[in-house]
Amino acid sequence: MTERIFNFYAGPAALPLEVLQEAQAELLNFDHTGMSIMEISHRSKAYEAINAEAEASLKELLGLSDDYRVLFLQGGASSQFFMVPMNFLPSGRTADYILTGSWSEKALKEAQAFGQTHVAATTSADNYRRIPSATEIHLSENPVYAHITSNNTIFGTQWQSFPKLTAPFVADMSSDILSRPFDASNFALIYAGAQKNLGPSGVTVVIIRKDWAESSPATIPTMLRYSTHSKNASLYNTPPSVAVYMINLVLRWLKKQGGLAAIAKKNQEKAALIYDAIDRSGGFYRGHADKDSRSLMNITFRLPSEELEQTFASQATQSDMIGLKGHRSVGGLRASVYNAMPLAGCQALAAFMREFQRTNG
Ligand code: PMP
Repeated sequence: MTERIFNFYAGPAALPLEVLQEAQAELLNFDHTGMSIMEISHRSKAYEAINAEAEASLKELLGLSDDYRVLFLQGGASSQFFMVPMNFLPSGRTADYILTGSWSEKALKEAQAFGQTHVAATTSADNYRRIPSATEIHLSENPVYAHITSNNTIFGTQWQSFPKLTAPFVADMSSDILSRPFDASNFALIYAGAQKNLGPSGVTVVIIRKDWAESSPATIPTMLRYSTHSKNASLYNTPPSVAVYMINLVLRWLKKQGGLAAIAKKNQEKAALIYDAIDRSGGFYRGHADKDSRSLMNITFRLPSEELEQTFASQATQSDMIGLKGHRSVGGLRASVYNAMPLAGCQALAAFMREFQRTNG
């Protein structure tokens, strides 16, 4: 295959073509070093510059001051599920969780191993079709933090705006980080696996308020303390340097696109094409999410039968659109349209959906 196809995988996911071309162009000789980025010491000036630029760009895009640090860690977002309570949930205190899908359930389960938790809201009774309203959120008394999942990759829902809570706010933003502007200074800690909106797999971004980063207990393993990584600018041990290099290129690309407001506009336009095909199908396509909770990143929908869903996914693949099968836990179809998905990919999918309905409806 010589042509690139439209990649709707939920993650690892599509990367901007320009970024891949740039990485390809300097694969053998990074920045006149005579070496590939894969071969360069993480203690070299060349790598330190990448590490520093990536941290500065993330803070710039999010409008964050020097009260925050950006860390590049390993272990995936799944390791943040336990690292957050391990560092910040002392005995005698409570951590609050708002459940909006399988990933928030997993985060809660890990926290339960460390201390007392409280479910401040959940939409599980509605099969996670929606995000709770502000009036449905009931925090415990003085929680150490309140944890949310900003975008629910599996169910295809997304917080449209964030509630104002009195507790320090922690968010898993794995599947919508840097897809839209928001007030990041409302959060004490944000984490995200890189493999959807930021770069390749293998690195997890943690954005953490400095006072939090410095407060890790000394009783937990060195590698699992945020303070270790904060004090050492993510260079305590060998970092996932190639993945951080790729993030740095993606962040440069994002700034060239015009930053978060500009990418949000594109993301709205892209998702609208597919939601429109669902809404105008007279019920042939049924979206999983309630309209006011719809995700701009992961669009989940069903067809009249599982057989048709399978046919849809396989015919789409033949038309060079891959990764549309829904998550194994909920079935149906899912189009993941992160920042790097070009408008043309969404146009092609919407056209395919209309044609598929015409021939199978
Ligand atoms: N949180 C969310 C919202 C996710 O979508 C995912 C992965 N799909 C995870 C956490 C787990 O991430 P990882 O595989 O990096 O551990």
